[in-house]
Amino acid sequence: MEKKLLTKKAACAAIVEMGHKLTEKHLVAGSWGNISTLTRKGIAITPSGLGYEKLTPADIVIVDAEGQALVGKHIPSSETKVHLAIYKAFPEAGAVIHTHSIYASALAAMHEDVPAVIEDIVQICGGKVNCAEYAMTGTQELADAAVKALAGLKACLLANHGAVCWGKDLAEALLVAEILEKAAQIVVLCKSCGGKLHELDAADSEAMHTFYEEHYSKRQRGEE
Ligand code: 13P
Ligand code: ZN
Repeated sequence: MEKKLLTKKAACAAIVEMGHKLTEKHLVAGSWGNISTLTRKGIAITPSGLGYEKLTPADIVIVDAEGQALVGKHIPSSETKVHLAIYKAFPEAGAVIHTHSIYASALAAMHEDVPAVIEDIVQICGGKVNCAEYAMTGTQELADAAVKALAGLKACLLANHGAVCWGKDLAEALLVAEILEKAAQIVVLCKSCGGKLHELDAADSEAMHTFYEEHYSKRQRGEE
């Protein structure tokens, strides 16, 4: 299926709006985290080190598939390699959001995965969300570790760092980030009170994910 790509103008405006949403939802703070989406002419990505509150569409950088800036007055995000690696590895990806949300980062600080214990994250991701092996921020090693941990799923944790999520568009990438953070919070709460986590059956997880991909996500978009 051919992707419906945004124009550069629409993509830059959508990224600015997404920055505000991520901040309001406490999925990022300050200038950390980053956002990108495919456009008809290159990949639109947040600039490095600029706070989301002050960001305007003119601050968004357009890079090519190798990360070379095509348009923009700022340095592209220092995690551009992670974003590019995801677009390359997962052709259905249309947008990538890297968050520093609290509960996902808490599990990432312990190098722990998010087990498949809650229905909505399993629907969206199809199973447990892996924590990638530690690699230094901004490196190709981090990009490689993220792609390996993603293993076809829409989210992974980045050890000692945060999370990275992708979707067919920005709206889906945000949904993945929110549902991941909720699952991570539930897991931390269960661990904090010494409770036992009961993992979902693998066949049930797969069935739920298939249902999400084939029906539920379409209902969310008003297509079914
Ligand atoms: P940038 O501001 O360069 O996008 O970096 C923030 C970040 O989260 C690094 O991992
Ligand atoms: Zn980061």
